[in-house]
Amino acid sequence: MQMFFAGRWRDSASKIDITSPYDGRVVDTVPRGTPADITKAVDTLAQGAAVMRRMSAYDRSQILRKAADGLRARTEDLARTITAEEGKILAESRAEVARSAETLEVSAEEAKRVTGEMVPLDAAPGAAGKIGFTIRQPCGVVAAITPFNFPLNLVCHKVGPALAAGNAILIKPASNTPLSALRLVEVLLEAGVPETAIACVTGPGGELGAAISDEPRIRKISFTGSAAVGEMICRRAGLKRVTMELGGNGPVLILDDADLDLAARAIATGGYANAGQVCISAQRILTSTKIAGDFLDALKPRVAAITTGDPTAADIRMGPMVRQDEALRVGEWIKEAVSAGAELVSGGQVDQAICAPTILDRVDPQLRISREELFGPAVAITRCHNVREAIRIANDSPYGLAAGIFTRDLESAFRFVRDVDAGNLHVNWSTQWRVDLMPYGGLKHSGLGKEGPKYAVREMTEEKLVVLHLPVEAE
Ligand code: NAD
Repeated sequence: MQMFFAGRWRDSASKIDITSPYDGRVVDTVPRGTPADITKAVDTLAQGAAVMRRMSAYDRSQILRKAADGLRARTEDLARTITAEEGKILAESRAEVARSAETLEVSAEEAKRVTGEMVPLDAAPGAAGKIGFTIRQPCGVVAAITPFNFPLNLVCHKVGPALAAGNAILIKPASNTPLSALRLVEVLLEAGVPETAIACVTGPGGELGAAISDEPRIRKISFTGSAAVGEMICRRAGLKRVTMELGGNGPVLILDDADLDLAARAIATGGYANAGQVCISAQRILTSTKIAGDFLDALKPRVAAITTGDPTAADIRMGPMVRQDEALRVGEWIKEAVSAGAELVSGGQVDQAICAPTILDRVDPQLRISREELFGPAVAITRCHNVREAIRIANDSPYGLAAGIFTRDLESAFRFVRDVDAGNLHVNWSTQWRVDLMPYGGLKHSGLGKEGPKYAVREMTEEKLVVLHLPVEAE
């Protein structure tokens, strides 16, 4: 495919092969964009931002609605593109397309609700006769830097709100998975997004990311990806607005009184969907010592039923990881845990880019597999004596994206809600649950700001205060 900027599709002499993580075949090629392409893209986006700023909320909403329909009409084609470049199974890719359409649909609704508020200025001493209100205006040019693991929906989570708010948008998709984003640009242009108001430049994150962070005409960067890269962008971006959706290492507490079948069902999906490459994957399972054995009995058959292989085959439930080196890394972390005393209950094998669904028990929470973000298909069980200990371990992490608890006890549930530092808290489900309209974002090193179209629109607009100075007349 070609990339799109400065009003048209463009090629370059230098290309990047996009390969299937499953069999290594070249799926397509994309141009290797350069920092100069970013500058050229922004030259045009600055004009597009002026066009978008004048476009009515109704028109912005209509365009996004059409784009949502456009995605739905191309579901099969887009799902196959996602599976080909990312490796998730087709059922998951189809679900991602449906969610992407929903994200644009909700953005279309939010385009109609960009409002300010009245400010009761005359409640201040000496401010009689003053009338105040705020209005919100678009940031101008917004840049979206996105990760590989949801290559369509996480782009929609930035493009939808950016356009809803009246901005122009520059997309820098992940280097391994740019095809879905380019197809999205086709759909958006067909739906009526002005050619000057959208750009998608493909290429290496380091070079293009630095050019984006340095570009003074970009007012806002919305980034989803690893904490290390997020921090680099923040340092470099200086006085720009940023939203950072970063990593996690999802803790799930399973207390004595938990419904173990429910917990096993939730962990068997929440730990292994998309081969564990989900920022809110269930990773650290903090079980009560009393029920750990029963929980494992419930979990093992469910994990054993996760068939692995060709992600396009109907009977396969888990495909490859995004690259073989990622599967090898996960394999290494598992080996390291086992040599430090963890018990390998199932899995552990790595074959090409496929890492077998793995359960580790009796994991020391200080090990890498527990402390860092695994981003692979394994869960690490640590046995705890009580809810206090489980909460302490849950919080003993640089991350704070999502957390879950299984209990029927209201007091324990509320203690968890009050004391665990995470952006999304789930009572009686695992960390892995999201609908696209909800506020979503992490605490600590998991990020800054919120996504979900309503909340992203706020972050992609700036607030202005208007004061009417009415004369105070003596009656
Ligand atoms: P990554 O950080 O390696 O890359 C993300 C994006 O940043 C890519 O487009 C990449 O090309 C670009 N990039 C790389 N170096 C850059 C630089 N120096 N400057 C600017 N941009 C640069 O992440 P990934 O491996 O693609 O995705 C996995 C990570 O994303 C995990 O940590 C995961 O938790 C996180 N993630 C978070 C959320 C969330 O909503 N919180 C959602 C999905 C994924």
